[in-house]
Amino acid sequence: MISEEIKQNLTQSSWIRKMFEEGQRLKAIHGADNVYDFSLGNPVIDPPKEYFDALKTYANNPISGGHSYIPNQGLVEARAKVASHLEGRYGDIGVTDQTVIMTSGAAGALNVALRSILNEDDEVIIFTPFFVEYKFYVNNAKGKAVYCPLAEDFTIDLEELASTITSRTKAVILNNPHNPTGQLLPQEDLESFNALLREKEAETGATIHVLYDDPYSQLIYDYDAPNPFAAIERLFYVSSFSKDLGLAGERLGYLAIDGQMDGAGDYMAAFVFANRTLGFGNASVTVQRMISQLPTLTQEQAGYKERRNAMVDVLTDAGFEFVEPKGGFFIFPKSPLVDDTAFCKLAAEKFNILLVPGAGFGREGHFRLSYSVSPKQIERSREAFKALFEECKI
Ligand code: PLP
Repeated sequence: MISEEIKQNLTQSSWIRKMFEEGQRLKAIHGADNVYDFSLGNPVIDPPKEYFDALKTYANNPISGGHSYIPNQGLVEARAKVASHLEGRYGDIGVTDQTVIMTSGAAGALNVALRSILNEDDEVIIFTPFFVEYKFYVNNAKGKAVYCPLAEDFTIDLEELASTITSRTKAVILNNPHNPTGQLLPQEDLESFNALLREKEAETGATIHVLYDDPYSQLIYDYDAPNPFAAIERLFYVSSFSKDLGLAGERLGYLAIDGQMDGAGDYMAAFVFANRTLGFGNASVTVQRMISQLPTLTQEQAGYKERRNAMVDVLTDAGFEFVEPKGGFFIFPKSPLVDDTAFCKLAAEKFNILLVPGAGFGREGHFRLSYSVSPKQIERSREAFKALFEECKI
């Protein structure tokens, strides 16, 4: 009774899911402390104290009627908070409460954006390696995913991108900082990316939107955050509070555009319609109310930077080769075995280390590791990583 498409996707069940199940099995046998689970991208740093203070205050003074349906675009105070946060971060970018829509996470925002603009078989370019869900989101909106490999150092290969664009290209999804590699494209790369898109538009007649997926926007270490609004035209800015504020389970994100963009009013009307009719609407009204009351949406992310440094040290010590991550909470090292799936199997079965093969992200020969784990786990895994690397030399 299940649709052919879903049936096929279920049989190719996600690697992250498989690793999660393997982790549960190994933890039951060896105890949680003896399994080094680096497979999941779940934020480990809790929301700020002010969030819980706001929740307590609200619980003691609830608003009558405050839990009924709200406008499909989201609470106006939440949208205004997001607009002023973006203005503080990126300057005068034309984003107002009228051009922000609150969504069910960044995931919801991406689905809303794609559903709003795609006609059947319109092409959406996804860089590889990718966040696995993108291809499903494109399918949800009846589009066609087209893959464009990132360069060896995970920057955009402009020649590859140029050869991927056709007259049917409707959007490119760009995630920066990037899951799974932890790389961050600087301002000049965003500018040359934009210049190429405009050139190709003139050549092919396509109208190309950039879905700038930025849920790791505040998890950037030692580098300046680039300003996508200043560099990219026809920009749909997508972000969420999942990672920046540690609220992943609350499912609150947003989609924002510059009100001066051509067709801004039509895009907003389409987003609101899609948000409603996709069925999930915008996220919890209580969480929208809480984030509206926070003194700031800007957070220090020192905890992730410390973990990044510790993980880099452990992997370097063991001998792994990788491009050092600049943001997010993932590293994407080269697999010491040609077969990355065999490597991850070996890591799990012999060393209790849970990793995800690069094949699961559309780039073989690598593996992904999330350092959103306890500092203790990172340190305890040191010897296991060394032994694993040594074993691969044999
Ligand atoms: N985009 C990327 C690149 C992600 O890594 C994730 C979550 O892991 C999402 C989007 C979805 O985030 P959210 O929890 O805000 O829906």
